[in-house]
Amino acid sequence: MDNTKLFQYVQIYNVPTACKTCGGVLVYRGLGEYICELCKEKAYDNYGKTRNYIEENPGASAVEIEKNTGVSKAAIREMLKESRFEIVEGTKSFLRCESCGKEVRSGRYCPECEKNIHIMIEKQQREKLHENMQGFAMNTGGQEGHRRFVRDK
Ligand SMILES: [Zn+2]
Ligand SMILES: [Zn+2]
Repeated sequence: MDNTKLFQYVQIYNVPTACKTCGGVLVYRGLGEYICELCKEKAYDNYGKTRNYIEENPGASAVEIEKNTGVSKAAIREMLKESRFEIVEGTKSFLRCESCGKEVRSGRYCPECEKNIHIMIEKQQREKLHENMQGFAMNTGGQEGHRRFVRDK
């Protein structure tokens, strides 16, 4: 999985990476749902939001979904193209996972590759959090050192 594809995936699905409440890493639970590993607050990506809305409002139009969920029509169209919302029984699948080439019934990636994508996103998010913390520690350390040096003189 290269970064361009990962980026596209994050864009189309608007994958939430940090918890709005505490800033913790959001872990993918499947079907567009995420949970914060620190405070257990739930979050949804575009697929999760659209899915929840369709469940409550069967037969909703793309315009209606956009208005009520904030998911753009372009993203909805993209997800429909991947037939994430139509599973036609008995039809031969011509879809293949874009990452490993395995046949898939719906979507762009097979479940294993999708899981891996989320593991990569979560890993990047953890590294980002870690870097921020390190950067902060280094800055304060530097300032203290400088002050001490001036005082000693
Ligand atoms: Zn949280
Ligand atoms: Zn795959």
